[in-house]
Amino acid sequence: MDPVRASEGIGATGPAVLGQVRLADRVVVTSSVKQHPDRYTLLFGRARSEVGHAVCLCRTDQVVRLVIRCRAGRYHLANWPAGGHQHAPACPWYRSSSSISGRSAHTGSITTTDEGTSIRLSTPLTVRGASASPADKSMLRQANNNSSTTTRNSMGLLALLHFLWESARLNVWHPHHRQRIWRICRALLEEQASDCRVNQVALADVLWVVPPFEREHADSINVAWQRYLARLSNVGRTRRRGLVLGEIRAFEPTEHGGVRLRLAHQRAPLFASTPLMNRARRSYPSVFSEQAGQVGRRQVVLCLVERSPRGYPLVVDLAAMLTTGSYIPADSSHEAEMAEALQNAGRAFVKPLHYNGGSIFPDFVLVDTDPETYVEVWGVRGRQDYEVRKRSKQAFYRDSGRTLLEWDVRDALPDLTR
Ligand SMILES: [Zn+2]
Repeated sequence: MDPVRASEGIGATGPAVLGQVRLADRVVVTSSVKQHPDRYTLLFGRARSEVGHAVCLCRTDQVVRLVIRCRAGRYHLANWPAGGHQHAPACPWYRSSSSISGRSAHTGSITTTDEGTSIRLSTPLTVRGASASPADKSMLRQANNNSSTTTRNSMGLLALLHFLWESARLNVWHPHHRQRIWRICRALLEEQASDCRVNQVALADVLWVVPPFEREHADSINVAWQRYLARLSNVGRTRRRGLVLGEIRAFEPTEHGGVRLRLAHQRAPLFASTPLMNRARRSYPSVFSEQAGQVGRRQVVLCLVERSPRGYPLVVDLAAMLTTGSYIPADSSHEAEMAEALQNAGRAFVKPLHYNGGSIFPDFVLVDTDPETYVEVWGVRGRQDYEVRKRSKQAFYRDSGRTLLEWDVRDALPDLTR
C-alpha cells in the first residue's frame, strides 16, 4: 500500500484523522514516516522550504503544526514547542499543556532548537577528583525545594524523570490506548531521549532505559549492559556517570552493609549505600510506603550511576515516582486508586507533573469534557496546612469557573463515568 496520497488542500480541511500528517502537498502515514524516514527525504525537504513545518491531521478546527527536524542528514518529526496540547487527546502527538506542568518553571534549563531539546542537569555527568557523593545532598535539596516557583537554570533528577515521562506522553491516558506495558514505555522514552542532549552530551549515550526481558535476547541484552557499564570507566581522576531508568523489583541488604537494587526486566543488579536508600525513603515516602508495594503499583526510578572502584554499578543519587500498573504517575496511593478508577471508567485524562516545583496543579485533568474537568483527591486529614490549601484550591477552581470532581478518601469513589 502506498502510504502517500495527494492531499486536497493546504489547511486543516477534510475529516480529522489520527496517525496521518501533511508534508508539503502530500498526506502521509505517521508510522511509515517514523519507520522509513529515508523514503520521505525529498518530501521533508520540500515541506521545510515551502511550508516550514508539517501539519497533523488530528483536528479540523485548527492547524496543528509539527516541527521538521534534521539530524545527520535525516529528517524526523517532532512536537511543536509547547504545542502538544493542541492535538486531539487521542493523537499520538498529544502532550499535556504547559499550564498544568512544572515544565513552565524550567524555561531556563530546557532549550528547544531545530536540533532538538537541550537540558541542563544540576548534577554533573563527569566528575573530577575523589567521590564526594555530592548527589546525596542534591536529593535532600530537591526534596526540600518545593516552595520556590522561580525559573530554574538547571534541573534535578526528579525534574528530568518528569520531563521524560511527559515528553513520552506517559502521563496521559486515553481509552484508545492498548494495555501499556514496559516495552511500550521504553520505546516511547527512547524515542524522546534520542532527540535530547543533557549537559551537552547526547542523552541516548548516557541513558540506559532497561530493555524488556526476553529470554531469547537475554545474552545480547547483558552484553549491551556490560558495554554501557564499560563506558562509565574512570579515566585518571575523571569519573563518567550514567543514568539508569527502570522499575524497582526488590531491594535487599548486601553482605557488605549496602543495598542491592533489583530492577524489573534486568538480571544485573545496581548497588546503593544504606544511607542513600534511607534518604530516598524519606524524600519519596509515597513511593516507598507499604501500600506502594501493593500488587499492581510500580516504583519507577531514575538512578545516577557510577562504577565503584571494583567495577560495580553504584547508585549515587536517585529520583523515584509511584505509578499505576499502566505507568500513570501518582503522588500517593489514593491518587493511584483514582487513576485506576478513571482508566476503568474509560476516561481520557492527564496527570500533571510538578517537576519538583512549587506550582499547584490539580491531581488529574479530564480532557474528554469541554472545558476540561479538574480532579482532586483529598487524602490527608486533620492537618491544618493541608486544610488551608484544600480550601484555597476549591475557591480557586470555583472562581475560575472550573468543573471540579472531588474525592474525599473517607468516602466511596464518586461516579466517574462520562
Ligand atoms: Zn495530532
